[in-house]
Amino acid sequence: MDIKLKPCPFCGCEHIIAEINYMSKRFAIYCEDCIAVMELSFIDAQFDDGSFISFYEARKVMDEMTEQWNRRTNNGA
Ligand SMILES: [Zn+2]
Repeated sequence: MDIKLKPCPFCGCEHIIAEINYMSKRFAIYCEDCIAVMELSFIDAQFDDGSFISFYEARKVMDEMTEQWNRRTNNGA
């Protein structure tokens, strides 16, 4: 994974985890040190069937979420 995530907008730490959870059918980007989290369910990402998601599609969604996360950290910076 070469996605670059900016530090947490709340606590400023750099322990940011991006994960695709196939069990709970969710994408998540979260901070390990505080409660900052950004989540998106497969359904909200508008896949026809949340149980089938290609690596390519997942990567695309993750890229978008990464952008959103990074954009948020820019606020007030
Ligand atoms: Zn944090």
